Amino acid sequence: MTRLLLIAAVTVASACAQEAPAPEPAAERTMAVTIDDLPFVGLGGDLAHQQRVTRDLLAQIAAAGVPVTGFVNEGKLDVEGERRARTALVQAWVDAGLDLGNHTRDHPSLFDTPLAAFQDQVRRGAPITNRLLAARGDSVRYFRHPYLNTGPDLETKRAFEAWLVGEGYTVAPVTHDNAEYVYARAYDRAAGDQALQARIADAYVAYMDTTAGYYEALGRDLFGREIAHVLLIHANALNADHLGALLAMFERRGYGFVSLDRALADPVYQSDDTYAGRAGISWLQRWALTRGLPFGSEPPVDPWVEDVAYPEP
Ligand SMILES: [Zn+2]
Repeated sequence: MTRLLLIAAVTVASACAQEAPAPEPAAERTMAVTIDDLPFVGLGGDLAHQQRVTRDLLAQIAAAGVPVTGFVNEGKLDVEGERRARTALVQAWVDAGLDLGNHTRDHPSLFDTPLAAFQDQVRRGAPITNRLLAARGDSVRYFRHPYLNTGPDLETKRAFEAWLVGEGYTVAPVTHDNAEYVYARAYDRAAGDQALQARIADAYVAYMDTTAGYYEALGRDLFGREIAHVLLIHANALNADHLGALLAMFERRGYGFVSLDRALADPVYQSDDTYAGRAGISWLQRWALTRGLPFGSEPPVDPWVEDVAYPEP
């Protein structure tokens, strides 16, 4: 009996030595999720729809337990008779404990807006958000350029960025840029057709999966390792209904989700960036251009989704 137990114990011990499950592998990749154009961007979108989108988007974020930084366009709150209700949409993000940044008041592009007027857009971009955040001892710290346009020329870009620092802002770069807005527009146009919306949502997640592979490869090409990525998506109905599926896809790719603060602690974000011009492109592509390196082409949008989003007249 004793011998049997001993054998059993030895067998168990040796099984443990050979087959002990490996510790859960730490996520090899990290990503900060940023959501632009708060409180809502999309076709139509009366107040009731915006309230529905905000509620469902925040529910998906809470269910995933992922840190998010949202970027607000306060001009969207300035609607006669709806100011309180629209401000409540931003309050809901604050109540959810999420980080909020400035995305200008009215979403102009620095490419064709004079610097002084653009600076005014930044100054008027965050008073309400700052007031709401102050209740929890917080404030707006990040700035996200509309259209990711950082200026028509290097002189304007540098002047604006130096001014931003003086105003206490940090630029929020994007590595995982994408054409999510095309899928979101198609999704809005397909409202009322659940089967088509489901197909668009599936195509969206597959497209973002492929696009992630493109940016991961570009990061490795430039830095020889996995970098901390920053994802850009928008506060739209598509994500209100399918953010969970999108984040699950990124988890399958090995991503762990981190705050924007933590992602930007990756030294890659100190890289030289001398790109200026019309294109609102990924910071990975800017770093490649700065170094004179090629960066290939981004995966294409599904043509049939583009046709739904932008039908022939
Ligand atoms: Zn935007």
